[in-house]
Amino acid sequence: MTIILGFEGTAWNLSVALVNEERVLYEAESTYEPKYGGIHPREAAHHHAAELKNVVLRALRGAKEEEKEGFSLDRIAAISFSQGPGMGPCLRTVATAARALAITLKIPLIGVNHCIAHIEIGRWRCGAKDPVVLYVSGANSQVLAYRSGRYRVLGETLDIGIGNALDKFARYLGLSHPGGPKIEELAKSRGTNYRYMPYIVKGMDFSFSGLTTAAKDAIGRHPDAKADICYSFQETAFAMLTEVTERAMAHCGKDEILLVGGVGANRRLQQMLRTMSEDRGARFNVPEKRYLKDNGSMIAYLGLLMLKTGATISIEESQIKPNYRPDDVPVTWRGEIEKKRGNSEER
Ligand code: AMP
Ligand code: MG
Repeated sequence: MTIILGFEGTAWNLSVALVNEERVLYEAESTYEPKYGGIHPREAAHHHAAELKNVVLRALRGAKEEEKEGFSLDRIAAISFSQGPGMGPCLRTVATAARALAITLKIPLIGVNHCIAHIEIGRWRCGAKDPVVLYVSGANSQVLAYRSGRYRVLGETLDIGIGNALDKFARYLGLSHPGGPKIEELAKSRGTNYRYMPYIVKGMDFSFSGLTTAAKDAIGRHPDAKADICYSFQETAFAMLTEVTERAMAHCGKDEILLVGGVGANRRLQQMLRTMSEDRGARFNVPEKRYLKDNGSMIAYLGLLMLKTGATISIEESQIKPNYRPDDVPVTWRGEIEKKRGNSEER
């Protein structure tokens, strides 16, 4: 069986995983936690540089114990890494390690789009065939669907990602990074009264920075209503995301939803999407939590799909792409897979 080693390190999480066609052999990670404030790109990159050797060795040792067929370095067929989007210093650090390992082992290098890796591991883990995807993370918020060889971005944030919006508001409340799960807890435990928040959907796009400002202002006026304001923030933002996802389903005529990205762990967001999909007679998919957040397994898994269609790159082509968009990527692997499954709708 083919084994790929994948590197993830676009932002806060450095993660290295080995994956084959059947399963994740092992994943090792090390998380950067800011001392105060949000993610500082250079500090995060220093963290990744300091931890890289350790994390790679842990992943290799783990794979050796897991792999029944016997594991040695020469069984690794290729190295894949997150080429973007992400924070420049972090991407650069991890790309350097990936290049060095590929050169040392004399094996191909594969540059992976981080957003598409989230989608493909979600499809793999959930068995989703052709879903409308809601991708919600710290820096990104997009609604996508596959059509004619690309993942098309049907709607996206006009300013900051929903995760950043939640994190910024949480910081204002004095909560440490990442703030999303803490806002979820506050909202769930005591939030009941809905307070007005700006609901901003423009066509198929949405905007969150005004929501963060409005939530901060509301705290200024009602310092004792933290839980209600967290609740109102979530209700508003998640309704915006659900509305656009539903419209994308109607436009594309698809009957599956896939939720991916770190914010996908939020139970209230899952509940809203599940209700909407049930109302439409559609299937709602969300992978296990460890595959929602940034993880090396998704980079290794997409590397495996890309290797099979020859989508490798030279060292010269391996420069990082901090603004890499998912619709820039020719999806070489899906046509083949779908043809084998006999799905004629996939062109
Ligand atoms: P990612 O960039 O995909 O790793 O996702 C990180 C983002 O997910 C951060 O902005 C977190 O605050 C956010 N996040 C993680 N868990 C939750 C949750 N339960 N509810 C809301 N946001 C979350
Ligand atoms: Mg991500």
